[in-house]
Amino acid sequence: MSELLPPDLPRLRVLETALRLALAEVQQAIQAAEEQEAARARWWISWQRRRPGVRPSGVLHRADCWWRGKADLSDERVRALLDEHGERIEMCPACQPRPPAPESPPPVSPG
Ligand SMILES: [Zn+2]
Repeated sequence: MSELLPPDLPRLRVLETALRLALAEVQQAIQAAEEQEAARARWWISWQRRRPGVRPSGVLHRADCWWRGKADLSDERVRALLDEHGERIEMCPACQPRPPAPESPPPVSPG
């Protein structure tokens, strides 16, 4: 048994309860963050079927594209995916998305 934990059952139960409460709080925060991100979603990608050993590729769409799909990507997430996959992500010919420009790097301080 860990030396950090109390040896008696009552205090172990108190710790268990506190940790469960903390976990529930973290899970609520995660859900709220996911909902916030979904509200900012303006993009989605239709991924090609993946085969083992082949890097994934897909097509980027705007939220209002008529193609069947649901926006689930924020500007930040799309930028990250475009950085990661480069030309393997094509622009949808129907909605012709103009993906968000990369954030400008922070200014370099002289010296
Ligand atoms: Zn599209």
